[in-house]
Amino acid sequence: MSGLDVITEALTRVREECAAAGTGRVADYIPQLGHADPSWFALALASMDGHGYQAGDAEVPFTIQSVSKPFVHALVLAELGADELSRWVAAEPSGEAFNAISLQPGTGRPANPMINAGAIVTTGLVPATGAAGRFERIRALLSAFAGRPLDLDEQVYESERATGDRNRALAYLMRAAGTLPGAVDTVLDTYFRQCSVLVTTVDLAVMAGTLANGGRQPVTGEQVVPEPVAVQVLAVMATCGMYDVAGDWLLRVGLPAKSGVSGGVIAVSPARFGVAAFSPPLDAAGSSVRGVAALRTLSQRFGLHLMHAA
Ligand code: GLN
Repeated sequence: MSGLDVITEALTRVREECAAAGTGRVADYIPQLGHADPSWFALALASMDGHGYQAGDAEVPFTIQSVSKPFVHALVLAELGADELSRWVAAEPSGEAFNAISLQPGTGRPANPMINAGAIVTTGLVPATGAAGRFERIRALLSAFAGRPLDLDEQVYESERATGDRNRALAYLMRAAGTLPGAVDTVLDTYFRQCSVLVTTVDLAVMAGTLANGGRQPVTGEQVVPEPVAVQVLAVMATCGMYDVAGDWLLRVGLPAKSGVSGGVIAVSPARFGVAAFSPPLDAAGSSVRGVAALRTLSQRFGLHLMHAA
Protein backbone atom coordinates (compact mmCIF):
# COMPACT_ATOMS: atom_id res chain seq x y z
CA MET A 1 0.00 0.00 0.00
CA SER A 2 1.33 3.49 -0.80
CA GLY A 3 1.81 6.11 1.93
CA LEU A 4 -1.23 7.93 0.60
CA ASP A 5 -3.43 4.85 0.91
CA VAL A 6 -2.20 4.16 4.43
CA ILE A 7 -3.17 7.65 5.63
CA THR A 8 -6.55 7.64 3.86
CA GLU A 9 -7.22 4.19 5.28
CA ALA A 10 -6.32 5.37 8.82
CA LEU A 11 -8.61 8.41 8.56
CA THR A 12 -11.45 6.28 7.20
CA ARG A 13 -11.09 3.75 10.00
CA VAL A 14 -10.94 6.38 12.77
CA ARG A 15 -13.98 8.08 11.26
CA GLU A 16 -15.94 4.83 11.33
CA GLU A 17 -14.89 4.08 14.90
CA CYS A 18 -15.84 7.55 16.16
CA ALA A 19 -19.13 7.93 14.25
CA ALA A 20 -21.12 6.71 17.25
CA ALA A 21 -19.17 8.79 19.82
CA GLY A 22 -21.25 10.59 22.47
CA THR A 23 -24.46 12.50 22.13
CA GLY A 24 -23.71 16.13 21.34
CA ARG A 25 -26.00 19.04 20.53
CA VAL A 26 -25.81 21.17 17.40
CA ALA A 27 -25.31 24.84 18.42
CA ASP A 28 -28.44 26.92 17.88
CA TYR A 29 -27.68 30.07 19.89
CA ILE A 30 -26.78 31.40 16.45
CA PRO A 31 -30.09 30.21 14.92
CA GLN A 32 -28.72 29.65 11.41
CA LEU A 33 -26.17 27.13 12.74
CA GLY A 34 -29.07 24.98 13.96
CA HIS A 35 -29.78 23.95 10.35
CA ALA A 36 -26.60 21.87 10.14
CA ASP A 37 -27.00 18.15 9.47
CA PRO A 38 -25.95 16.38 12.70
CA SER A 39 -24.76 13.35 10.74
CA TRP A 40 -22.01 15.24 8.88
CA PHE A 41 -18.62 13.89 9.88
CA ALA A 42 -15.34 14.53 8.08
CA LEU A 43 -11.62 14.16 8.66
CA ALA A 44 -8.83 15.67 6.55
CA LEU A 45 -5.07 15.82 6.82
CA ALA A 46 -2.54 18.01 4.97
CA SER A 47 1.10 16.98 4.88
CA MET A 48 4.12 19.26 4.56
CA ASP A 49 4.79 18.06 1.00
CA GLY A 50 1.40 19.40 -0.12
CA HIS A 51 -0.58 16.16 -0.15
CA GLY A 52 -4.16 16.09 1.11
CA TYR A 53 -6.04 13.11 2.55
CA GLN A 54 -9.70 12.96 3.52
CA ALA A 55 -12.55 10.80 4.77
CA GLY A 56 -16.30 11.50 4.92
CA ASP A 57 -18.01 14.85 4.24
CA ALA A 58 -14.73 16.73 3.82
CA GLU A 59 -15.99 19.07 1.11
CA VAL A 60 -19.17 20.23 2.87
CA PRO A 61 -18.90 24.01 3.49
CA PHE A 62 -19.54 25.40 6.97
CA THR A 63 -18.69 28.64 8.77
CA ILE A 64 -15.26 28.73 10.36
CA GLN A 65 -16.40 30.34 13.65
CA SER A 66 -13.75 30.23 16.40
CA VAL A 67 -11.30 28.27 14.27
CA SER A 68 -10.65 31.68 12.64
CA LYS A 69 -9.15 32.98 15.90
CA PRO A 70 -5.60 31.56 15.66
CA PHE A 71 -5.27 32.81 12.08
CA VAL A 72 -6.36 36.36 12.90
CA HIS A 73 -4.11 36.17 15.96
CA ALA A 74 -1.27 35.33 13.54
CA LEU A 75 -2.11 38.34 11.38
CA VAL A 76 -2.01 40.73 14.33
CA LEU A 77 1.17 39.17 15.74
CA ALA A 78 2.82 39.61 12.34
CA GLU A 79 1.73 43.25 12.17
CA LEU A 80 2.19 44.39 15.78
CA GLY A 81 4.55 41.88 17.39
CA ALA A 82 3.98 39.91 20.58
CA ASP A 83 4.95 42.75 22.95
CA GLU A 84 2.47 45.26 21.55
CA LEU A 85 -0.30 42.65 21.32
CA SER A 86 0.26 41.62 24.95
CA ARG A 87 -0.60 45.16 26.02
CA TRP A 88 -4.12 44.43 24.73
CA VAL A 89 -4.63 40.69 25.20
CA ALA A 90 -2.84 38.35 27.64
CA ALA A 91 -1.77 34.80 26.79
CA GLU A 92 -2.99 32.91 29.85
CA PRO A 93 -5.42 29.97 29.82
CA SER A 94 -8.72 31.26 31.16
CA GLY A 95 -10.03 27.93 32.43
CA GLU A 96 -13.42 29.23 31.34
CA ALA A 97 -15.90 28.82 28.50
CA PHE A 98 -15.35 30.48 25.11
CA ASN A 99 -17.91 33.18 25.81
CA ALA A 100 -16.92 33.89 29.44
CA ILE A 101 -16.95 37.40 30.87
CA SER A 102 -13.25 37.15 31.55
CA LEU A 103 -11.20 40.30 31.88
CA GLN A 104 -8.06 40.30 34.01
CA PRO A 105 -8.32 42.35 37.21
CA GLY A 106 -6.29 45.54 37.07
CA THR A 107 -5.49 45.65 33.36
CA GLY A 108 -8.96 44.75 32.03
CA ARG A 109 -7.27 42.69 29.32
CA PRO A 110 -8.95 39.51 28.09
CA ALA A 111 -7.10 36.36 29.17
CA ASN A 112 -6.13 35.16 25.69
CA PRO A 113 -6.96 35.56 21.96
CA MET A 114 -8.76 32.17 21.70
CA ILE A 115 -11.78 33.12 23.84
CA ASN A 116 -14.36 35.49 22.39
CA ALA A 117 -13.30 38.53 24.47
CA GLY A 118 -9.68 38.26 23.35
CA ALA A 119 -10.62 37.43 19.78
CA ILE A 120 -12.86 40.49 19.51
CA VAL A 121 -9.98 42.73 20.66
CA THR A 122 -7.58 40.95 18.28
CA THR A 123 -9.94 41.53 15.34
CA GLY A 124 -10.15 45.22 16.26
CA LEU A 125 -6.33 45.44 16.14
CA VAL A 126 -6.04 44.34 12.49
CA PRO A 127 -4.51 47.41 10.81
CA ALA A 128 -6.78 48.77 8.06
CA THR A 129 -8.54 51.90 6.98
CA GLY A 130 -12.18 51.31 7.86
CA ALA A 131 -14.25 48.27 8.78
CA ALA A 132 -14.71 47.00 5.20
CA GLY A 133 -10.95 47.11 4.63
CA ARG A 134 -10.35 45.31 7.91
CA PHE A 135 -12.65 42.43 6.99
CA GLU A 136 -11.12 42.19 3.51
CA ARG A 137 -7.66 41.88 5.08
CA ILE A 138 -8.95 39.08 7.29
CA ARG A 139 -10.67 37.33 4.39
CA ALA A 140 -7.50 37.62 2.29
CA LEU A 141 -5.41 36.21 5.11
CA LEU A 142 -7.77 33.25 5.73
CA SER A 143 -7.82 32.64 1.95
CA ALA A 144 -4.01 32.65 1.81
CA PHE A 145 -3.92 30.05 4.60
CA ALA A 146 -6.49 27.96 2.69
CA GLY A 147 -4.86 28.47 -0.71
CA ARG A 148 -8.11 29.52 -2.37
CA PRO A 149 -10.55 32.48 -2.17
CA LEU A 150 -13.02 32.03 0.69
CA ASP A 151 -16.60 33.35 0.70
CA LEU A 152 -18.82 34.78 3.42
CA ASP A 153 -22.05 33.03 4.48
CA GLU A 154 -24.37 36.06 4.57
CA GLN A 155 -27.16 34.19 6.35
CA VAL A 156 -24.96 33.04 9.22
CA TYR A 157 -23.47 36.53 9.45
CA GLU A 158 -26.97 38.12 9.68
CA SER A 159 -28.07 35.47 12.18
CA GLU A 160 -25.02 36.03 14.34
CA ARG A 161 -25.36 39.80 14.20
CA ALA A 162 -29.05 39.61 15.13
CA THR A 163 -28.44 37.40 18.16
CA GLY A 164 -24.92 38.39 19.31
CA ASP A 165 -25.92 40.14 22.52
CA ARG A 166 -23.43 38.26 24.67
CA ASN A 167 -20.56 39.31 22.42
CA ARG A 168 -21.98 42.84 22.44
CA ALA A 169 -21.98 42.76 26.25
CA LEU A 170 -18.36 41.61 26.27
CA ALA A 171 -17.39 44.37 23.87
CA TYR A 172 -19.12 47.04 25.96
CA LEU A 173 -17.37 45.82 29.12
CA MET A 174 -14.02 46.05 27.34
CA ARG A 175 -14.93 49.44 25.94
CA ALA A 176 -15.64 50.64 29.50
CA ALA A 177 -12.31 49.19 30.67
CA GLY A 178 -10.50 50.99 27.82
CA THR A 179 -9.34 47.71 26.24
CA LEU A 180 -11.43 47.68 23.04
CA PRO A 181 -9.57 49.16 20.05
CA GLY A 182 -12.47 50.82 18.22
CA ALA A 183 -16.23 51.30 18.39
CA VAL A 184 -18.33 48.38 19.65
CA ASP A 185 -20.51 47.99 16.54
CA THR A 186 -17.63 48.35 14.09
CA VAL A 187 -15.35 45.82 15.78
CA LEU A 188 -18.18 43.33 16.31
CA ASP A 189 -19.37 43.60 12.73
CA THR A 190 -15.92 42.56 11.54
CA TYR A 191 -15.75 39.78 14.15
CA PHE A 192 -19.16 38.39 13.10
CA ARG A 193 -18.07 38.42 9.44
CA GLN A 194 -14.78 36.74 10.32
CA CYS A 195 -16.71 33.92 12.08
CA SER A 196 -19.03 33.55 9.03
CA VAL A 197 -16.33 32.79 6.45
CA LEU A 198 -17.07 29.49 4.70
CA VAL A 199 -14.53 26.66 4.75
CA THR A 200 -14.45 22.91 4.23
CA THR A 201 -12.65 20.32 6.35
CA VAL A 202 -10.05 20.08 3.56
CA ASP A 203 -9.47 23.86 3.86
CA LEU A 204 -9.06 23.64 7.64
CA ALA A 205 -6.52 20.81 7.34
CA VAL A 206 -4.33 22.80 4.97
CA MET A 207 -4.73 25.95 7.11
CA ALA A 208 -3.54 23.94 10.12
CA GLY A 209 -0.82 22.48 7.89
CA THR A 210 0.41 26.00 7.14
CA LEU A 211 0.91 26.58 10.87
CA ALA A 212 2.64 23.18 11.13
CA ASN A 213 4.91 24.24 8.26
CA GLY A 214 6.23 27.41 9.94
CA GLY A 215 3.68 29.66 8.23
CA ARG A 216 4.41 28.45 4.67
CA GLN A 217 1.34 27.14 2.82
CA PRO A 218 2.31 23.59 1.82
CA VAL A 219 0.42 23.62 -1.51
CA THR A 220 0.93 27.17 -2.84
CA GLY A 221 4.36 27.64 -1.22
CA GLU A 222 3.37 31.14 -0.01
CA GLN A 223 4.93 32.29 3.26
CA VAL A 224 1.64 33.47 4.76
CA VAL A 225 3.05 34.56 8.14
CA PRO A 226 6.65 34.56 9.42
CA GLU A 227 7.88 31.37 11.08
CA PRO A 228 8.24 32.88 14.60
CA VAL A 229 4.60 34.00 14.39
CA ALA A 230 3.43 30.46 13.56
CA VAL A 231 5.36 29.19 16.60
CA GLN A 232 3.76 31.80 18.89
CA VAL A 233 0.27 30.96 17.60
CA LEU A 234 0.82 27.24 18.19
CA ALA A 235 1.97 27.96 21.74
CA VAL A 236 -1.23 29.87 22.48
CA MET A 237 -3.35 27.16 20.78
CA ALA A 238 -1.65 24.54 22.98
CA THR A 239 -2.50 26.33 26.23
CA CYS A 240 -5.78 28.08 25.36
CA GLY A 241 -7.26 26.61 22.15
CA MET A 242 -9.68 24.21 23.82
CA TYR A 243 -11.02 26.71 26.39
CA ASP A 244 -11.86 25.18 29.77
CA VAL A 245 -10.67 21.70 28.72
CA ALA A 246 -7.30 22.89 27.34
CA GLY A 247 -5.37 21.13 30.13
CA ASP A 248 -7.16 17.83 29.64
CA TRP A 249 -6.65 18.12 25.88
CA LEU A 250 -2.90 18.68 26.27
CA LEU A 251 -2.79 15.69 28.62
CA ARG A 252 -4.67 13.27 26.39
CA VAL A 253 -4.05 14.53 22.84
CA GLY A 254 -0.92 16.63 23.23
CA LEU A 255 -1.26 18.78 20.10
CA PRO A 256 -2.03 22.50 19.67
CA ALA A 257 -5.68 22.69 18.64
CA LYS A 258 -8.67 24.97 18.14
CA SER A 259 -12.37 24.21 17.98
CA GLY A 260 -15.41 26.21 16.84
CA VAL A 261 -19.17 26.06 17.44
CA SER A 262 -20.07 24.99 13.92
CA GLY A 263 -18.26 21.69 14.63
CA GLY A 264 -14.80 22.25 13.14
CA VAL A 265 -11.63 21.33 15.06
CA ILE A 266 -8.02 21.68 13.92
CA ALA A 267 -4.87 20.17 15.42
CA VAL A 268 -1.25 20.68 14.45
CA SER A 269 1.67 18.28 14.54
CA PRO A 270 4.57 20.72 14.07
CA ALA A 271 6.76 20.01 11.01
CA ARG A 272 4.57 16.98 10.18
CA PHE A 273 0.97 17.81 9.27
CA GLY A 274 -2.24 19.71 9.96
CA VAL A 275 -5.39 17.74 10.65
CA ALA A 276 -9.03 18.82 10.82
CA ALA A 277 -12.29 17.25 11.88
CA PHE A 278 -15.85 18.43 11.33
CA SER A 279 -19.08 17.22 12.89
CA PRO A 280 -21.72 19.65 14.18
CA PRO A 281 -22.94 18.08 17.48
CA LEU A 282 -21.00 19.70 20.36
CA ASP A 283 -19.98 18.71 23.88
CA ALA A 284 -20.50 20.88 26.97
CA ALA A 285 -17.27 22.80 26.25
CA GLY A 286 -18.51 23.79 22.78
CA SER A 287 -16.29 21.41 20.79
CA SER A 288 -17.34 18.76 18.26
CA VAL A 289 -18.00 15.46 20.06
CA ARG A 290 -16.92 13.25 17.14
CA GLY A 291 -14.13 15.65 16.17
CA VAL A 292 -12.61 15.49 19.65
CA ALA A 293 -12.97 11.69 19.74
CA ALA A 294 -11.35 11.31 16.31
CA LEU A 295 -8.37 13.56 17.08
CA ARG A 296 -7.86 11.86 20.41
CA THR A 297 -7.91 8.45 18.71
CA LEU A 298 -5.49 9.56 15.98
CA SER A 299 -3.07 11.00 18.53
CA GLN A 300 -3.11 7.93 20.74
CA ARG A 301 -2.97 5.38 17.91
CA PHE A 302 -0.11 7.06 16.10
CA GLY A 303 1.82 8.41 19.11
CA LEU A 304 1.39 12.06 18.12
CA HIS A 305 1.65 13.59 21.60
CA LEU A 306 4.21 16.42 21.49
CA MET A 307 5.86 15.30 24.73
CA HIS A 308 6.77 11.88 23.32
CA ALA A 309 10.49 11.18 23.57
CA ALA A 310 10.67 10.01 19.94
N1 GLN B 1 -19.11 33.30 16.41
C1 GLN B 1 -19.10 32.55 17.63
C2 GLN B 1 -19.38 33.44 18.81
O1 GLN B 1 -18.79 34.46 18.88
C3 GLN B 1 -17.78 31.85 17.78
C4 GLN B 1 -17.71 31.02 19.03
C5 GLN B 1 -17.05 29.69 18.81
O2 GLN B 1 -16.93 29.18 17.71
N2 GLN B 1 -16.70 29.06 19.92
O3 GLN B 1 -20.17 33.14 19.65
